[in-house]
Order: sequence, then structure tokens, then C-alpha cells
Amino acid sequence: MSDCLFCKIAAGEIPSNKVYEDETVYAFYDIAPQAPTHFLVIPKAHIGSVAEVTPENATVVAHIFAVISKVTKELGLASYRVVSNIGEQAGQSVHHLHFHVLSGRDMTWPPG
Ligand code: AMP
Repeated sequence: MSDCLFCKIAAGEIPSNKVYEDETVYAFYDIAPQAPTHFLVIPKAHIGSVAEVTPENATVVAHIFAVISKVTKELGLASYRVVSNIGEQAGQSVHHLHFHVLSGRDMTWPPG
């Protein structure tokens, strides 16, 4: 999508601090970290949110979780939280599917 921030980051048109990249997935550190380690994992192809995941495009979501498993091991993160906000009330501010990976501090439950 031409006016999507995360499409531009995935395409390298806007700079980011890369954690991981392959043909279909890009991961980069969050610009406003909410934990000592906080990065985002996104599909390169535009999907608006979990609400737009379908049987036709869901393969990349499974791959994203495999990437999260691999990258967290490489970073030595034994405990972490994966979060995806969907819609305004849940706090979604960028309308391109992304999974937050947060680690390095105690987490509260339920989340605020
Ligand atoms: P959400 O509010 O769940 O949609 O998450 C969007 C996240 O993107 C927020 O945590 C922002 O801090 C992060 N963010 C926004 N712009 C950038 C950017 N240019 N580089 C890295 N992270 C960003």
C-alpha cells in the first residue's frame, strides 16, 4: 500500500533498525520501546490487522511465529510477550499487521 508506514519500512524506503528479514517477513526495533527489548514483526505484503487474516493469506502468520521463535532464541530471550492490537479501542495505531515482541521486564496481567 503506497501510503502505509510499515509497507515503506519493509521496502527500505523509511529507515528502521532491522532485527530480521527474509522474502516475506521483516522485523525491526520499535521506535518507542515499551520494554528493554521491543521489536515488531510484520509481513512484507500489506495485511491491515489480524482482522484481515484469511485462509488465503494466513501462511505468512505461521511463518511470523516461526521467525519470532527463532529470533528470540538468537537474542537469548527466555521469556517474552507477543501482542497484536486490532482496532482503535485495542490501541492499534499502524494499520499494517504487526506483532509486538516485548521482553526484559516483569509483565502484568491482565494487560492495560
Ligand atoms: P500499534 O500501536 O499496536 O499499532 O503499534 C504500532 C507501533 O509502531 C508502536 O509501538 C510505535 O511505537 C511503532 N512505530 C511507529 N512508527 C515507527 C517507526 N518509524 N519505526 C519503528 N516503530 C514505529
